Amino acid sequence: MDISYRNQSRIWNGWGNKDQKVFYDKKNELKNFLESRLGKSYSHKEISREEIKKMIHPRVQIQKPYIYQNLDIIIDYSFGQSFSDWIRFKMGYNLRFTDAVAIPSTIEELRELLNISREMDYKIIIYGGGTSVVGHITPESEKPVITVSMEKFNRVLNINQENLSALIQAGANGTEIETQLGQYGFRLGHYPQSFEFSTLGGWIASRSSGQQSLYYGRIEDLFLGGKLITYEGIFEVPPIPASSAALDLKHFILGSEGRIGILYEATVKIRKIPEKEEFLGLFFSNFEEAIQFIREVLQIKTSLSMIRMSFPEESLIHLEMAKYTGNKKIIEYLMKFLNIKGFKEHQFAMMILGFTGLKEEVSDAKKKVISLAKRFKIFYEPYLIAKKLGHSWEKNRFLNPYLRNILWDAGYGVDTLETCISWDKVSFLKRKIEEAIIEAADKYKEKVIVYTHISHIYLNGSSLYTTYIFRNKEDPEENYNFWKEMKTSASKVIVESGGTISHQHGVGKDHKEYLIYEKQKMGLNIIKTLIEKFDPYQILDNKNIIDQEN
Ligand SMILES: Cc1cc2nc3c(=O)[nH]c(=O)nc-3n(C[C@H](O)[C@H](O)[C@H](O)COP(=O)(O)OP(=O)(O)OC[C@H]3O[C@@H](n4cnc5c(N)ncnc54)[C@H](O)[C@@H]3O)c2cc1C
Repeated sequence: MDISYRNQSRIWNGWGNKDQKVFYDKKNELKNFLESRLGKSYSHKEISREEIKKMIHPRVQIQKPYIYQNLDIIIDYSFGQSFSDWIRFKMGYNLRFTDAVAIPSTIEELRELLNISREMDYKIIIYGGGTSVVGHITPESEKPVITVSMEKFNRVLNINQENLSALIQAGANGTEIETQLGQYGFRLGHYPQSFEFSTLGGWIASRSSGQQSLYYGRIEDLFLGGKLITYEGIFEVPPIPASSAALDLKHFILGSEGRIGILYEATVKIRKIPEKEEFLGLFFSNFEEAIQFIREVLQIKTSLSMIRMSFPEESLIHLEMAKYTGNKKIIEYLMKFLNIKGFKEHQFAMMILGFTGLKEEVSDAKKKVISLAKRFKIFYEPYLIAKKLGHSWEKNRFLNPYLRNILWDAGYGVDTLETCISWDKVSFLKRKIEEAIIEAADKYKEKVIVYTHISHIYLNGSSLYTTYIFRNKEDPEENYNFWKEMKTSASKVIVESGGTISHQHGVGKDHKEYLIYEKQKMGLNIIKTLIEKFDPYQILDNKNIIDQEN
């Protein structure tokens, strides 16, 4: 059968587009660097696509022009991007597959799919861009499963210039949205790092946060209303700018993680494409002052659109790795210069600032922000370096995840975890998370590179985003247990310290056991009842958020 679908151009067992070869020529240097820090990697064999195909036995037989049971398409829609997914598609461990992939293009087909699933007792998984890092779209059911890809719902249907809003189909990904809005001079401004693949529906369903959230807001700040097809009919939230009419039903859709219905269109806020956008990089001599600066700068109104502060370990590792992925000479020169100026390694904190708005706003904001920063010891001049650092961040803002492919090939795994907590606990929790990961790795007699940054900031606190790189174990099960030990230890300290189990990735399967800390029993019961109201037959129950039976 000749089918054309979105994931054909993507790497099925890794991150990104097949034709994007960025960083591949740096593989050996990166491998040597990681070997020096973590030890020589183990040899490992990857499972091939042909081997995987032999294990798939689709249990769904439906003759519909938009439903496919072809083995290639099944592989291409059976995996997400969580570390467990990586162990599956790379090492063949604990493989699970969907039984069919539906690619509907009309609301009638969506309705038909809901009817078929109900009649046949099949489960449905709603698939946006498949970039979930917490197991959302990985099938987990005894019953046959149909994965419904929303990729044909990818159009901007209407731009209302007067209301500054756009009606957009929920399967449109970041590139599709911004390209279509851009033709009319508008922008949504939601830039998660997964932007090129993740979709409006996925962002809303998992409450995502884009890199410039300081200016554009999180997805819940951009989402005005939408339409969801459910087992109980169409659930519609009108796009009213603000309302005090009882509970806000928008928030039933936000964070629903595919459990209550299929969002097929949404109205979102848009803005004119900014006249000017600039990113600058600077260094603080220590992270305490950098945080102090952030808390102060938040209290003045400027057109700052992003503050990304790397703690000292991340600042250093980024510079070290940039020697291999970027221009080695410039980085060495920069590090020397920092040293001469008294900015000590393991102490300095790198910060990227983003400015967005009218030309005058940007220039005014830069003056105010930098003069505030200069009250602390900062490395900002020569301006050319600040500009170069900012430019380099901007250039690589969606490319860095491709490093995951190269590191895995070299024998090293990468995972990230994130939380949000009030300012008084930010530094404490950052330390606890990193210690928990290091101690967990130590139990497996392994070293781990751990580093953290702050990238979504609020008046009352900030997100923490921790990356950990480790040597993959040769045995898939041992590798899974090793990763799980680190993930569990970090998750425990997060919730025990009062942080959220997720600031932006959602709950999925990996975080659901920790949800009780934040929602408590009563909250979980309310969520469970709500899900049952929307999906009384539990057809959308792919074990995300909550286990219905417990
Ligand atoms: C390299 C990388 C970088 C990332 N960076 C960020 C980041 O900067 N910020 C951030 O917030 N997240 C980030 N993520 C996580 C991920 O991209 C987000 O969670 C994103 O919102 C998922 O969108 P998606 O379209 O890929 O959804 P999917 O992964 O396909 O699905 C996620 C969940 O949403 C549900 N869903 C999807 N579409 C619909 C719909 N139309 N109706 C109802 N339910 C639906 C699915 O059923 C599932 O439960 C990153 C992930 C990766 C791999």
